[in-house]
Amino acid sequence: MATNLFSWIKQSVFGKISCKKCLELLELITDNEASSEEEKRFREHINACLPCYESFNLEKSIKEMLQTKLEKKQVPEDLIESIKLKIRNHT
Ligand SMILES: [Zn+2]
Repeated sequence: MATNLFSWIKQSVFGKISCKKCLELLELITDNEASSEEEKRFREHINACLPCYESFNLEKSIKEMLQTKLEKKQVPEDLIESIKLKIRNHT
């Protein structure tokens, strides 16, 4: 955990992209709209940044959950919003 925190700080200060930028790319990537260069930078970042890595996994599982649920029934809007808020508050 301490090692992860250290690399997170290091990456935040010296890394190519910031966590803010990383979360912007996350939106693009989960929507399949990122370029290969953007995806490369994003992957470099989440490899060194645990909070962003977790956000990515969370976002990915939301998308998957939505896709599964949409085939069956509607997901409550407030549930989606509360999960998204958790992601935003993560940084
Ligand atoms: Zn990050």
